[in-house]
Amino acid sequence: MEVYLDNSATTRPYDEVIEYMNEINKYMYGNPSSLHTKGIEAEKLIKKARETISESLGVSSKEVYFTSGGTESINLAIRGYLEANPRLGNHIVTTKIEHPATLEVCKYLEEKGYKVDYIGVDEKGVVRLKELEEKINDKTALISVMMVNNETGSIQPVDEIAAIRNARNRDAVMHVDAVQAYGKMQVLPYKQGIDMLSVSSHKIHGPKGTGALYVNRKLRIKPIIFGGGQESSLRSGTENVPGICGFGLAVEKTFEKIEENRLKVEKLRSLLCDMLKKEGFEEYKINSPDNGSPYILNISFPNVKAEVLLHHLEEKKIFVSTGSACSSRKRKLSHVLEAMSLRTCDIEGAVRFSFSSFNTEEDIIYTVDALKEILPKIRIRHGGKR
Ligand code: PLP
Repeated sequence: MEVYLDNSATTRPYDEVIEYMNEINKYMYGNPSSLHTKGIEAEKLIKKARETISESLGVSSKEVYFTSGGTESINLAIRGYLEANPRLGNHIVTTKIEHPATLEVCKYLEEKGYKVDYIGVDEKGVVRLKELEEKINDKTALISVMMVNNETGSIQPVDEIAAIRNARNRDAVMHVDAVQAYGKMQVLPYKQGIDMLSVSSHKIHGPKGTGALYVNRKLRIKPIIFGGGQESSLRSGTENVPGICGFGLAVEKTFEKIEENRLKVEKLRSLLCDMLKKEGFEEYKINSPDNGSPYILNISFPNVKAEVLLHHLEEKKIFVSTGSACSSRKRKLSHVLEAMSLRTCDIEGAVRFSFSSFNTEEDIIYTVDALKEILPKIRIRHGGKR
């Protein structure tokens, strides 16, 4: 038995997506810029995928640009907007719990002279709106917030943030990192007052290396990659046709069952919580808020090193994460859990279980049984001995 509970890091692609991409790689390999029928065929495939994605967001297909993934979309949105509009202010407002794709761009921009305010979060991992309101001023050019945090699943009040922006500085544009929200909950840029929005394919059973950026047509943004002028000159480079089409199909399949999938993972997440409670686990602390995304459950096992637990689970073919996938190799304490003011021992013992519609009840039962067996063996007892 193999239990994959690391779906926030990435998901297994749908079989249909793999088959479709194989077909495109084999037969529909034309360059969309070529003038002959092979090129036109590829161009049509991209057009279809663009329409699928724009429909899923309720925006115009002219406002959707394909990129290599969430990271590139975020970089393009933030840098591309600020570089195109230098006179609109040099102040950025973001949060302490963003993905490194956002935090590292902000760090880079600080070196270039921008002022960045990183807003804190409460103990549930939700951005402090009062602090955000105080920081937005008439020099604020851009606000960048995530919709769902990738480590805890905390949902950020994007609609309220847009309303605060409207009240404080209507000219400040709002970018939303919707990588962990897209295909899992309502993401509607027009309705929610979002000006730019980043999504990624591999979090919803699509291929890796593909994503999209929505940019409201009223905005002017500059490319960060220059070349042949593809994607209306915003993102040069020959299009990843199989990736884009695989993404399109993954969106179709995910949105068809968005509600059904949500109910399914909600049940699995509750089952895991209930079983932990019933089985009388010695000590643990659920870090994810009750009203967070049902796709993510972050749990601390104090006096346990999360990495040790991860490897013991792995021996039983159960795959989970400590913190986020990108930062877990760096052996740094999670910046998200730190921002939530968790005790160091709770951060060190934090494991993320993340679900998808591919998971089953058996997966959860098997995982709880494994935890029951592993935890007593690896818990560090007082006095430092295991
Ligand atoms: N933003 C969030 C919230 C994420 O979880 C991730 C991926 O882990 C990214 C951005 C980056 O997306 P990608 O892996 O497609 O570059």
